[in-house]
Amino acid sequence: MFEKVLIANRGEIALRSHRACREMGIRTVAVHSTADADAMHVRLADESVCIGPPPSKDSYLNIPAILSAAAITGADAIHPGIGFMSENAVFAEMVEQHGFAFIGPTPEHIRIMGDKVTAKQTVKGLGLPTVPGSDGALANLDDAKKNADSIGYPVLIKAAAGGGGKGMKVARSAAEIEEAYSLARNEARAAFGNDEVYMEKYLEKPRHIEVQLLGDTYGNAVHFGERDCSIQRRHQKVIEEAPSPGLNASKRAEIGALAADVIRRLGYRGVGTIEFLYENGEFYFIEMNTRLQIEHTISEMITGIDLVREQIRVAAGLPLSYKQDEIEFSGHAIECRINAENPETFVPSPGKIVGYHPPGGLDVRVDSALYDGYRVPPHYDSMIAKLVVRGNNRNECLLRLRRALEEFVIGGIDTTLPLHRRLISDSDFINGDYDIHWLEKWLERK
Ligand code: ADP
Repeated sequence: MFEKVLIANRGEIALRSHRACREMGIRTVAVHSTADADAMHVRLADESVCIGPPPSKDSYLNIPAILSAAAITGADAIHPGIGFMSENAVFAEMVEQHGFAFIGPTPEHIRIMGDKVTAKQTVKGLGLPTVPGSDGALANLDDAKKNADSIGYPVLIKAAAGGGGKGMKVARSAAEIEEAYSLARNEARAAFGNDEVYMEKYLEKPRHIEVQLLGDTYGNAVHFGERDCSIQRRHQKVIEEAPSPGLNASKRAEIGALAADVIRRLGYRGVGTIEFLYENGEFYFIEMNTRLQIEHTISEMITGIDLVREQIRVAAGLPLSYKQDEIEFSGHAIECRINAENPETFVPSPGKIVGYHPPGGLDVRVDSALYDGYRVPPHYDSMIAKLVVRGNNRNECLLRLRRALEEFVIGGIDTTLPLHRRLISDSDFINGDYDIHWLEKWLERK
């Protein structure tokens, strides 16, 4: 097993990795920008190295600085966390070339799944159903028009290099195709430096259902059930729950086994998630994330298994600790992503925390790097806390979540806590009656 792991991230997810390492008796190295010198992940780690100024491109995305930090501290592995370098195949390759273990999949698997066109073709070949759409990337506007006519409107134009909901545009009719095509390409070029786009049928009422997976280097693969991440704003997840209120036991078993089989046949190492849209009883693959996900917490709550620990174990060359029939599902879990943003306008609200009181009690988990007096820097993602609650059934979970949200105090800045309090009291949410477009419509009505 590793003796020392460098965690190439910040915030709550850096803490998450640190906690798993600590419990495994592994020492940790934090890296940080000058804006994060007082951050919790730096305070808790055994050692820390400043790797650059506040902008991410000069620090958390600075490959030479991260590798140098690993070398001077004598780390034997690097955990990339979520975002930043976690899905960068070049980084994974360089980490291995410099003699460190990368706590994640092989660079080849990151590369295949990072290009959504290749990913879709790969999983289609392995038997997963995909959203009807163009066969590969669109060559030009004419090709886009032809494809839209044969798929049928509305259609969605998506970036091959996409992520975070960027580079995605809907065309509802032939009149909208030209604009959607050029907007999607421009957005993709600006965000990813790659303007390749492809087309899918735009589904009107799907749920977002994803399956948590884990594979090792010995050809074993298991799933940890599904998560429903349909509560989204601008294609970004806001609340997630497991299991999905929209699936029955047979659908659940079907999709779990199908997804685990895909990563087994790929020979995939590490944790990963296969994402689907689910409409009228059918699943359609949309993408695979070759890393930990923010919402891995809810799968941990209903299985009692530490996914980061498993991720570290397989990266160290150990076989999976669990067979599929040893993974037991118990109860229901919901996660609320709490952002430093105005709960109505969503304008970011960095600044000093004055008064911090996280909720507690049975089956209440808060993953956050906040503390009283901490200054939320303006340079990074606005998510500052994840409130994760479990109950023996969905109703108990909802009642506990309401109670935990009432207790949660984050003073000094605006947060989305009031939004979550309102959302979970809505009758559609309580009934589990929502799809991926539900939250946007709800926000328009309010
Ligand atoms: P990203 O990598 O940018 O997150 P995804 O392909 O995972 O992109 O899609 C993100 C979200 O966009 C999905 O969860 C869903 O809400 C919406 N979406 C993606 N594809 C479609 C589609 N074909 N029809 C309708 N909505 C879609």
